[in-house]
Amino acid sequence: MQAHDIVQDLMELLAVHSPTGHAEAAADLCAEKLASFGLPVSRSARGAVVAKIAGTGGGRPRALTAHVDTLAAIVAEIMPDGRLRLSPVGGLPALSCDGAYVEVWTTSGPVTGTILPDLASTHVFGPRYEEQKRSWHEMRLRLDMNVGSRADVLAAGISPGDFVVLDPRAQLTAGGFVKSRFLDDKACAAALLAAAREVAQGPAPRHTTYLHFSVYEEVGQGAPAGIPDDVDEIIAVDMAAVGAGQASDEHHVTICAKDSGGPYDFSVRQRLCALAQAEGVPFVQDIYPYYSSDATAAAHSGRDMRIGLFGPGVDASHTHERTHEDALLATARLALAYLREA
Ligand SMILES: [Zn+2]
Repeated sequence: MQAHDIVQDLMELLAVHSPTGHAEAAADLCAEKLASFGLPVSRSARGAVVAKIAGTGGGRPRALTAHVDTLAAIVAEIMPDGRLRLSPVGGLPALSCDGAYVEVWTTSGPVTGTILPDLASTHVFGPRYEEQKRSWHEMRLRLDMNVGSRADVLAAGISPGDFVVLDPRAQLTAGGFVKSRFLDDKACAAALLAAAREVAQGPAPRHTTYLHFSVYEEVGQGAPAGIPDDVDEIIAVDMAAVGAGQASDEHHVTICAKDSGGPYDFSVRQRLCALAQAEGVPFVQDIYPYYSSDATAAAHSGRDMRIGLFGPGVDASHTHERTHEDALLATARLALAYLREA
C-alpha cells in the first residue's frame, strides 16, 4: 500500500462537489471504484454506498463507515442589491468563507461567485471593513453576473434553496502535506478505498465487513442507513481533531476514546490499539471536545451496535484543513488490519 495511491483517490474525490444533501457525484465515484475491485455494491434509499467484503468464518458482520458529503451552503435570501444571503449546510463557519470562490447550482447550470462581507471594499468603507462582524447574517455572495436587484437575480434563474458549493482548493505539497477545505472526510473515504483494493485481491478475511460511504454525516444523519440489520459493530473512519491540547497530529492515525457524544466502546478501542501495535501503525489516542461522528449517529438511531472511531489528524478542521501523507497511510493501514482481523 502506497501513500501516493491514497492521495490520488483523494484528489479525485476532492475534484467533485458533494455537499450534504446533493452528494451523488462523490458517492458514484466510490461505487464505481469499489465495483472495479470486484466487490458487490448497493445503494441505500438516501444514496449511501455499501460494499460487502465477504468473510470465510462465522461471527456477526461489522461495518466501517466514512462520509463523502461535505460542508456547503444554500441560498437563503436574495437581497435588494442582488447579493445573496446564505444558510450554512453543516457546521460551515462564516469567518472561514471570507473570500471563498463558489458555484451556485441553479436549475440552468452553475453560476460562479465569491463570498464576501457586506462592506467588502477598504477604499469605500475604510475602518468599517475590519470592524464588521463576519457571521452568516453579514456575509454575502456576489454573483459573477450583471445583477443589481432582486428581480435581476430571479430573472437569471437563481432562487432561494439553490445549493452553494465551495472551491475545494486541493493541493499536495512537495513535503507530503495535503491541503483542502474538505479533507473531512474524503481523506478517510480514500483510505478506505485503498484498504478495500488491497483486501479484494485476497485471500478472503475471516470476518464479513461492510464498507459504508455515508452522504448525510455533516448534519448527523449518516449511519446506519443502508447497513444490514445483523451488523453489531460499526467503526467510523473520520478525521481526528488537531490543535492546542490535542494528542492528535498530522502524522498519526488517532484512535478516539471520547467525543461530545461520550465514550466509544472500550473493547473496540482496545482491539484497534492492539491491531495498530501489531502492524507497527503510528497511532495516538485522543478525545475531541466538539465533535460527533456517524458512529454516534448509529448509536442515536437506537441500533444496538458497538461503536469505534479512528482517522488521520487534520489541522484547522472545518476551515482550511491540512493533513500529511503519513496520517493517510496510517489510517489506511489500520483499516486494512481491521478488515483482516483474525
Ligand atoms: Zn467528518
